[in-house]
Amino acid sequence: MKGGKLLIFSAPSGSGKTTMVRYLLEQPELNLAFSVSATSRKKRGEEEEGEHYYFMSVSEFKKHIKNDDFLEWEEVYRDNFYGTLKSEVERLWKMGKNVIFDIDVVGGLRIKKKYPKETLAVFVKPPSVDELKIRLKKRSTESDDKINMRIAKASVELATAPQFDKTIKNYDLEVALKEAHQMVANFVNSDELPEKS
Ligand code: 5GP
Repeated sequence: MKGGKLLIFSAPSGSGKTTMVRYLLEQPELNLAFSVSATSRKKRGEEEEGEHYYFMSVSEFKKHIKNDDFLEWEEVYRDNFYGTLKSEVERLWKMGKNVIFDIDVVGGLRIKKKYPKETLAVFVKPPSVDELKIRLKKRSTESDDKINMRIAKASVELATAPQFDKTIKNYDLEVALKEAHQMVANFVNSDELPEKS
């Protein structure tokens, strides 16, 4: 596969990375397109097929694994599979786009390893695990059980931050959005390898 740049935004669920990715997608000069992942989890709220995710059953997902259709995939939570289809990245690269991902830390680092030069991997840090809990509860799209599962995973994910090219602290959303914008603009406009910070 050959094409534009890859921007990975990874963080514990509830850190604000989705808001950040949406904001970046609205900046036309960055020429970004969102990589729609495949998932076996159930549709939430207003989510649309092909826009937020390609929703599929666990057995369909496993068929794609067998066919080697994924660039990376992960069982992020039990029986909830998520993955990036190779065909999705190819589709967006063919359109001449830089591709932005909203994916979990393991998947993000896997893509970075496969495309070290083309990829900028950004870790979005929440103020604290307690703040994460408050944000997830406010979102109230999931049961307490599911929220606790996400919180337990957050501590493990936070430990992977040093493996990313860049870290953004999302303490103040406006500040974090500006920082992300600048970071991505610098990367998409240069031929340089990402510098560690
Ligand atoms: P959610 O269920 O909240 O949409 O996503 C749960 C987690 O799965 C998030 O951390 C999200 O970034 C991650 N995720 C979404 N798509 C992918 C993917 O294609 N691959 C991997 N590895 N993780 C993903």
